[in-house]
Amino acid sequence: MGKKFYITTAIDYVNAKPHVGHAFEKTIADALARYHRLKEEDVFFLTGVDENAQKNVEAAQKTGISTKEFIDKNTGLFIELCKKLNLSHDDFIRTTAKEHAIVVQKLVKKMVKKGDIYKDIYKGLYCIGCETYYTEKDLVNGKCPEHETIPELREEEAYFFKLSKYKKQLLKIIPNYVTPEIRRNEVLKRVNEELKDICISRKGAKWGIDFPNSKDYKIWVWIDALINYISGLKNKESKYWPADLHIVGKGINWFHSVIWPALLLSSDYKLPNKLLVHGYLNVSGKKMSKSLGNTIDPLELLNKYPSDVVRYSLLKCNLFDDSDYSEELLIERNNNELANKLGNLVSRISALAESHGIKKTANKLIKKLNIKKIEKHFENYELDKALNEIFLFIDICNEYVQNKKPWEDKTKNKQEILYELSDSIKAIAILLSSFIPETSNKISKVFNFKISIKDLKSPLKVSKIKKSQILFQKIDIKKKRNKQKEINTKTNNKIEGVIQMSQINFQEWEKIDLRVGQITKVEDIEGADKLYKLTINLGKSIGERTVCAGLKKFYKKDELKNKKIILFVNLAPRMMKGIESQGMILAAVNNNESKVILNLVGGI
Ligand SMILES: [Zn+2]
Repeated sequence: MGKKFYITTAIDYVNAKPHVGHAFEKTIADALARYHRLKEEDVFFLTGVDENAQKNVEAAQKTGISTKEFIDKNTGLFIELCKKLNLSHDDFIRTTAKEHAIVVQKLVKKMVKKGDIYKDIYKGLYCIGCETYYTEKDLVNGKCPEHETIPELREEEAYFFKLSKYKKQLLKIIPNYVTPEIRRNEVLKRVNEELKDICISRKGAKWGIDFPNSKDYKIWVWIDALINYISGLKNKESKYWPADLHIVGKGINWFHSVIWPALLLSSDYKLPNKLLVHGYLNVSGKKMSKSLGNTIDPLELLNKYPSDVVRYSLLKCNLFDDSDYSEELLIERNNNELANKLGNLVSRISALAESHGIKKTANKLIKKLNIKKIEKHFENYELDKALNEIFLFIDICNEYVQNKKPWEDKTKNKQEILYELSDSIKAIAILLSSFIPETSNKISKVFNFKISIKDLKSPLKVSKIKKSQILFQKIDIKKKRNKQKEINTKTNNKIEGVIQMSQINFQEWEKIDLRVGQITKVEDIEGADKLYKLTINLGKSIGERTVCAGLKKFYKKDELKNKKIILFVNLAPRMMKGIESQGMILAAVNNNESKVILNLVGGI
């Protein structure tokens, strides 16, 4: 065994069933865990659930069943999610476990001994959704930035942790610890501005872990939750701590970048090596939320599609930023990439190898596979880029078959060509095994090799090859679309443009760049019942732009053509239905949004 690699996901609240963001994070962690195992490292991969949060209690009360029963039920769904995603985790922690409470209390006692915990009166704004206090300044329009709910005012005698004491050390730690840069800078800015001591107890709470020697208090759930990364190792703590990689969503960056290292410093634990903060999955540029009716249930997806298809569709998303995700994207990625590219290559070559046989030769084709580059992407957590690189090589292999035509009678060296392709498929399957393990396994059985670093580096042994079964079924996108249409009309009457407008931060008005442009082309977008693809001429300095706009309901194509409109030109481009939309049209709407008015430019 090589060096140890300890990797964790965040532990999820079980106040509701899992959403696709949970599946995203877990799949990222699993791909990285599998990659490090492939490198023959001694990997420990921990995931689990946070059962001690107050919001679990409140969610349980709404359903009328006991907290314990409610939690068991939802935790069951998270366990099912891990199983259906084919995760390779070594343990699954539930924070209501006794062993966990013991470790939490041990650490808190150490902090008390250090003199880092004191009692004082706390008055503040508390968001139950986040399980945290906010200052007025943190709020957006008086509401929690994560939940858009108004936090409640609380005043109580409480225990505090001397977070401020660790400011200097934190400023030193964070630059090497937090990635990507944007998340690092966010927390550095906040630590530099002000780092206040934090309240770490809840007086009179019934649910959670007792504060040591203080019966009336429970430990603030975030302290308890963070310590799962140590308690989850159980008797393997000395072997695997410190963590090599924590993976969390951007909404809980602060807790992991700042509070967690400070707690560890205070209780004399070694610090984790890296924190990878990922973005959220959006649906057509909108945050997924229950009120918008655009959430995606990962268990539903996994009931409908094989785990590898779901995994692949998620891992193709850029994890550093917010990414668009939808079932349609899953279908596109399945049909265009998995079925058409990988599936076709494997089925074609295995069939040809079955009928013609293979003969060992030096594989010149594989020189076009840049393994170094793929490894680099893995080390930088750029999983989507690693996939792109592998699929580039799949394209090269497909072209190679097409050019060499090993099925034609007149082709010389058929068996050698098929060997080169089979050996290349071996490399592809081994490299893809972190992403789509089941499929890689199937391929390894067809071409007779092992998923291992040794087999990646040595040439394929010649053996009898039998035609592979079909790896990926194509999914009929039309069927799915008709269903989606129904859902769209039921839950979402707002047009894209209106919602987009509300996302612009108008406090930054001086940055907004509005231009007059003329619509030169109006086209339908396949599968979009609200959107048009518009080509807009903005004159010499900018030229042409492509914009997707939700105007179909309000304007016929002819009514739009040649119309002059006002365009926001300096917005970040967004992918909509596979098209890069490079701006947004300014429009007015009437009160009930049944009408959109574009002719704001008057006589121009
Ligand atoms: Zn909140």
